[in-house]
Amino acid sequence: MTDTTSLASAPETTIARAVGAQAADARLEPLEIARRDVGPTDIRIDVKFCGICHSDIHFARGEWGDVPYPAVPGHEIAGVVAEVGPEVTRFAPGDRVGVGCMVNSCRECENCRAGEEQYCIPGNTQTYGSVDRDGTITYGGYSDHVVVDQDFVLRIPDGLELAEAAPLLCAGITTYSPLRHWDTGPGKQVAVVGLGGLGHMAVKLAKAMGAQVTVLSQSLRKRDDGLRLGADGYYATSDEATFGELAGRFDLIVNTVSAGIDIGRFLTLVKTGGTLVNVGAPSEPLPVPVFSLLTQRRSFAGSAIGSIQETQEMLDFCAEHHIAADIEVISADQVNEAWERVLRSDVRYRFVIDNSTL
Ligand code: NAP
Ligand code: ZN
Ligand code: ZN
Repeated sequence: MTDTTSLASAPETTIARAVGAQAADARLEPLEIARRDVGPTDIRIDVKFCGICHSDIHFARGEWGDVPYPAVPGHEIAGVVAEVGPEVTRFAPGDRVGVGCMVNSCRECENCRAGEEQYCIPGNTQTYGSVDRDGTITYGGYSDHVVVDQDFVLRIPDGLELAEAAPLLCAGITTYSPLRHWDTGPGKQVAVVGLGGLGHMAVKLAKAMGAQVTVLSQSLRKRDDGLRLGADGYYATSDEATFGELAGRFDLIVNTVSAGIDIGRFLTLVKTGGTLVNVGAPSEPLPVPVFSLLTQRRSFAGSAIGSIQETQEMLDFCAEHHIAADIEVISADQVNEAWERVLRSDVRYRFVIDNSTL
């Protein structure tokens, strides 16, 4: 791509080619960003592929709050190690690696010490839009390289293609973690609301864990895909009869919808003592009718990504079960169009940028 916007580079940095937004209502455009040089425990990764998560859109368009523009999104990063710092012990140039939604955490709080750095109490350092340890703003994987501390780098098993593995770094772990937390396995009834990037991974993972899986989509348009991905049942939420037929059926419902939905109606589908966990992150509140909880001791919960250790476990699980994302690879100049298609729920089931086209 041409027409780059040059940004000031501080000393001891390298310049990365990237695609980003300069304002909430701006189209993504080519630009240049500064990356820190490789420090003692850092790894420089040549980004080969980066998935497009709906969170990239929420973030860059300012739906979740103030954004330090330019915004360079991308937290489903798959690439190859190009350079390692002198104290890096676990990775070497040429290794196939991934980076997900966070690139650091305080490492001292109760949750970090317990290996749950995604719930770091002062807040983890997000892959984009966060203040990094050197005071600079983090930029994501819509760029040709990233520099990340080795503790936040994942190993991509040989059995997984880099392009298909990229979406596992967010969509994969965000669905794997709650499925594991709520003991998904044989004999469990799991429903997935929304068959997009997260939803299609939730179906594959829940099925591989041995559960009975049902998709709850707005229509039956993607039914054949849902069944091919492993779902045992597929229902349209636009059909009134769905809510009668499935009342009280599920041990766990994973809501992946990026917009507000009527949570109360979906709670009626949860079994006594079961849980509806929200991983979808719409900017507006989701009102919960208390009676749909207390009458059957149901829980309404949330879950954010997963820890680094659990992300590695998920990648190894996917390699073992031959699971990866269903993707459509695009070039960097198609990113704006891909975002529009994500917003229209017209994605099967993850767009992945080929970063060699930056
Ligand atoms: P996506 O690919 O756009 O999928 C969302 C799906 O939700 C759509 O495919 C559609 O499925 C359904 N949907 C969309 N708009 C809807 C509406 N108005 N009413 C009902 N259903 C609707 O998005 P994604 O990348 O999977 O991300 C989903 C959400 O999870 C986003 O809010 C994202 O920010 C959030 N997220 C959270 C975490 C976390 O850590 N908790 C991590 C990653 C992403 P159907 O066409 O099948 O109905
Ligand atoms: Zn994401
Ligand atoms: Zn912490």
